[in-house]
Amino acid sequence: PLPRVLSVQSHVVHGYVGNKCAVFPLQVLGLEVDPIYSVQFSNHTGYPVVKGSVFDGEQLRALAAGLEANQLLTHTHLLTGYIGSLSLLQAIADLCSMLKRRSPDLTYVCDPVLGDEGRLYVAPELVDAYAATIVPLASVLVPNQFEAERLTGGAPIDGLEAALAACEQLHGRGPHTVVITSMALPGDPGGITLLASTRLPQRPDGRLGGARRMKMRIERIQAYFTGTGDLFAALLLAWMHHHPGDLATAVEKAVGGLQAVLADTVRHCGPAALAAERTAEVCAQRELRLIPCQGKLQEP
Ligand code: ADP
Ligand code: MG
Ligand code: MG
Repeated sequence: PLPRVLSVQSHVVHGYVGNKCAVFPLQVLGLEVDPIYSVQFSNHTGYPVVKGSVFDGEQLRALAAGLEANQLLTHTHLLTGYIGSLSLLQAIADLCSMLKRRSPDLTYVCDPVLGDEGRLYVAPELVDAYAATIVPLASVLVPNQFEAERLTGGAPIDGLEAALAACEQLHGRGPHTVVITSMALPGDPGGITLLASTRLPQRPDGRLGGARRMKMRIERIQAYFTGTGDLFAALLLAWMHHHPGDLATAVEKAVGGLQAVLADTVRHCGPAALAAERTAEVCAQRELRLIPCQGKLQEP
C-alpha cells in the first residue's frame, strides 16, 4: 500500500509555508497526503498584513471523528508543524494515540515549531506542553537550534558537544531520530551546521545500542527565508520513507532539494529584494520557488 501522511500544518492562500510547503513535495515524491489546516491565513505572518482564522482542538477532534467513523485513519505517517494553541496540541496528542492504535508502526514526524533566532513565536505554555506531551509521542523530531534549546531546559547549544547532549536527552524521551536542522556555531558565521542523530536498536543482551550521528555544514545565504523548516520536515519524511535505515542519505537528499529551491529563489528575486525591507512586494518575491524546482526535489 502507498504510504499515507496525515499532515497538520498551517495553510496560506498565497505563498509557501506549512502545508503549502509540505503537500506538493510529499506528493511529487510519491506519498499520499491528507492535509488538515491548523490555520487558514491570507499569507505568512512576515507580511505587513495577515488575515484569516485559526483552528481549535474541538474542530480537529470533529475531523478525526469523521475520519475514524469511515475507517479513514489508516495513515502510515503523521506530520505536524505550527500549532498555535494548547487545545489544538492536546487534540493532536490524542489523534496520534488514535492513529497508533490502528497502526502501531505509525511514524510521527514532529517539527516542534516554537520560534527561531532567539525569539519565541508561540505562547510560553506551549513549550512545556511540547516537552511533556508531544516529544514522547514523536518518532522523528526536527527542531532548529532555538527549539532544541527550549525543549532541553534552555541551556545554550554553543557547540557540537552541547548539541550531541541535547540529541541524547531528546532520544531518552522518545524520538528515535533527532535532527537539529540549523545551528549557528561560534567561529562559523558563514555556515549552518545540521546535526542528525538516530538511535541504534537495542543489542541482543538488552543494552542500549547507542546512536549514529552525522553533521553537515551548509553554506549560509545571508537572508532569512520563511518556510524552510516546513519544507525540510516534509522532504525528510519522504526521503526517510524511500531510504529506510539510511538517515545520512535521507538528510542529504532533503538538504539537496531544499538548497536547490533556495538557490532558485535567490536567483529569481535578486540581491536587492534579499536585503530590502519586508514590504508585501518583497515578501511575495521571496516566496520559495517550489513549483519550478519540482524536478530537483525529485532528483536532488
Ligand atoms: P526553521 O525555518 O524551522 O527555523 P531552519 O532555519 O533550520 O528551519 O531551516 C531548515 C533548513 O533550511 C536548514 O537545514 C538549511 O538547509 C536551510 N536554510 C534555512 N535558512 C537558510 C539560509 N539562510 N541559508 C542556507 N540554508 C538555509
Ligand atoms: Mg530558522
Ligand atoms: Mg521551523
